[in-house]
Amino acid sequence: MKTRAEALKELRRTLTEAGFDTAALDARLLLLTVLGISATDLITWPDTPLTSEQADTLAAFMNRRLAHEPVARIVGEREFWGLPFRLSPETLVPRPDTETLVETVLALLPDRQAPLKVVDFGTGSGCILVALLHELPNATGLGVDLSFGALVTARANAIGNRVGSRCHFALSRWADAIAGRFDLIVSNPPYIASGVIPTLDQEVREHDPRLALDGGSDGLEPYRILLGEAERLLAPGGLLALEIGYDQAEDLESLAGSHGLEVLRIAHDLSGNPRCIAM
Ligand code: GLN
Repeated sequence: MKTRAEALKELRRTLTEAGFDTAALDARLLLLTVLGISATDLITWPDTPLTSEQADTLAAFMNRRLAHEPVARIVGEREFWGLPFRLSPETLVPRPDTETLVETVLALLPDRQAPLKVVDFGTGSGCILVALLHELPNATGLGVDLSFGALVTARANAIGNRVGSRCHFALSRWADAIAGRFDLIVSNPPYIASGVIPTLDQEVREHDPRLALDGGSDGLEPYRILLGEAERLLAPGGLLALEIGYDQAEDLESLAGSHGLEVLRIAHDLSGNPRCIAM
């Protein structure tokens, strides 16, 4: 049987030869997941042989990767805001760019100890809501999604990340079934124009749920709905923060204007693109 070090080297070579830029990282993550060990364990005991069952599972993972399934989908988990999030076919893979939204909200809140009421529309894996509740010890949250499967995953992630007791979840198309007022409304809605979806990267197009991507004919439909609900749902002095596509800042500014909402900040992601608007 192959040792851990041999299996890693072989997998890395196969993925490199198949043209994966992230071959080394992918190989390591797949192997660690199959073995259920930490990176430190791998370095400390590189010569332990794989069992035949482990070798079979690794081969199956490799074939899925060679078919361009994202590593996060294969291992069923992705880190966001330093926390682990389980994924399911109904949830978008959390993106590092979405941390811009969390950062912006935290920067704009005057008091992180306040007992804020937070709602996250299109919560998906729950990553935004869970990250916020993790940073806001006295806040309570409501995660809303149209997908029941996503809500099951989000709830597991809230519990797994120790904010489950301060979190509820509701099945609703946007705010249709939601009443009450919130100090903080957040969302990373689907914002890709329907016609652009066929041109997306294969890993996104084939593996992220369409419901999580498709923002209607111009990609702005969810924003129109959410901004239209802001007056009903925002508590006095409340904050509304939305992730946006790299080319949507101007459209969002004018939408905010037409709903009488003052733009407080447009924040940029690590690539320098506008990624979040707060009002
Ligand atoms: N809120 C989730 C995230 O940011 C899901 C967003 C979505 O599905 N559009 O990852």
